[in-house]
Amino acid sequence: DAAMYSAKEKGRNRYNLYSSTMSLHAAERLAVEQELRKALERNEFCLHYQPQLDCKTNQVVGVEALLRWRHPEWGMVSPAEFIPLAEETGLIVPIGEWVLRTACQQNKAWAEAGYPSLRIAVNLSARQFQQENLVGMIKQVLQETQMQPQFLELEITESAVMQNATRFIGILHELKNLGIWLSIDDFGTGYSSLSYLRDFPINRLKIDRSFVNDITENEDAVIAKSIIAMAHSLQMNVLAEGVENEVQLAFLREQQCDEMQGYYCSKPLPAEQLEEWMQQSGTTAHAVWGK
Ligand code: C2E
Ligand code: MG
Ligand code: MG
Ligand code: MG
Repeated sequence: DAAMYSAKEKGRNRYNLYSSTMSLHAAERLAVEQELRKALERNEFCLHYQPQLDCKTNQVVGVEALLRWRHPEWGMVSPAEFIPLAEETGLIVPIGEWVLRTACQQNKAWAEAGYPSLRIAVNLSARQFQQENLVGMIKQVLQETQMQPQFLELEITESAVMQNATRFIGILHELKNLGIWLSIDDFGTGYSSLSYLRDFPINRLKIDRSFVNDITENEDAVIAKSIIAMAHSLQMNVLAEGVENEVQLAFLREQQCDEMQGYYCSKPLPAEQLEEWMQQSGTTAHAVWGK
């Protein structure tokens, strides 16, 4: 039950909690699942937003919306902990719709408040592509929120793509035709063939942060350079995830990487805090984050 889960959770450090989803005992999984079912109606979810900066100009050009779950007893539960469960149970379908709607509403609110046009990126699970009418749902949300589709980016992982390749390709073309941006998240970690890059209408690759961590060291440097070169040859944009320091950024700039995202600029923040961050950083964000 909840108390048991909570006691266990307290005993673990954060790292263990992140990697422990598969080892949750059946009773714990059930407790999390039951709480997850109530989380939407209880309004326990919120989004945090992490800025994405143009590597050349340092301007904020987009934000990624990242889901947060604040449970009344357990506190913050990591997405790494509950998203796999939400996927297995199908709860990711209504939750994913909530994420999309909330992100689009926020984007619209920023546009109306006079912030420069920001692209907003939303993560999509493979499971959402199995839902009856994903494209219809997305169209509906865009219409409701009056958000322009060219400011919406949808992130999918390579493994999601490969799971349903044939079903996927049609849906991706429909989304692309609406004007939505499509990105491959965690690129380089999916163990998949590269042929989908040729066949699927992908706008950008997000280099997984595992390659960015030691990006100036031999193998990772070669991999990162190759991904950037390949993306550009295929007329795709490329963003580096998990940029944490100046050395990594300098390398990415030299290699003509288009955009970057990571703690070096900012952690994911609640909307109001991101607004403060944008006001402080303005167009030359390095004044704030270059310390
Ligand atoms: P992701 O989409 O690859 O998101 C990036 C993750 O890296 C985020 O973790 C972010 O907080 C973290 N991160 C950003 N910059 C840095 C950095 O400089 N260093 C390090 N070490 N980490 C950094 P978060 O928010 O815990 O999300 C984890 C994953 O959960 C996401 O990975 C995504 O796969 C999934 N997720 C989050 N929100 C959603 C959602 O709304 N829907 C779906 N389907 N999945 C989501
Ligand atoms: Mg993502
Ligand atoms: Mg990622
Ligand atoms: Mg990820």
